[in-house]
Amino acid sequence: MSVPVILYVEDNHANRELVKRILEVEGYDVLEAADGMIGLELAEKHKPDLILMDINLPEMDGYVVTQRMRKIDGLLHTPIIALTANVMRGDREKSLSAGCDGYIRKPINIDQLPEQVAHFLEAKRAPSN
Ligand code: MN
Repeated sequence: MSVPVILYVEDNHANRELVKRILEVEGYDVLEAADGMIGLELAEKHKPDLILMDINLPEMDGYVVTQRMRKIDGLLHTPIIALTANVMRGDREKSLSAGCDGYIRKPINIDQLPEQVAHFLEAKRAPSN
């Protein structure tokens, strides 16, 4: 079985380094995108198994990037998990209506992240049909 590929769209370099390191230790291949356009290109090219989507991005926010990714061939059912520091009521609903499958709150809890990622990958592998 091939190693799951995770795409992380995040404009903050320190966050990218941290999450990449954690996920690589877990045995995942990690692709990084510093903005939405790069994210869209990498998603289309590599068809990752899971996408972690920072919401607060320059130019195009993570909601818009997610909506565009859903229109890419082969990405309709790829888990896209929103990462946001916004804790206002309604953010969860907003990420779900943009097409995200779940929500991880920032700052990222590095002890919980591997389990959260495994959970979302597991959900993908067990479709109802
Ligand atoms: Mn950001």
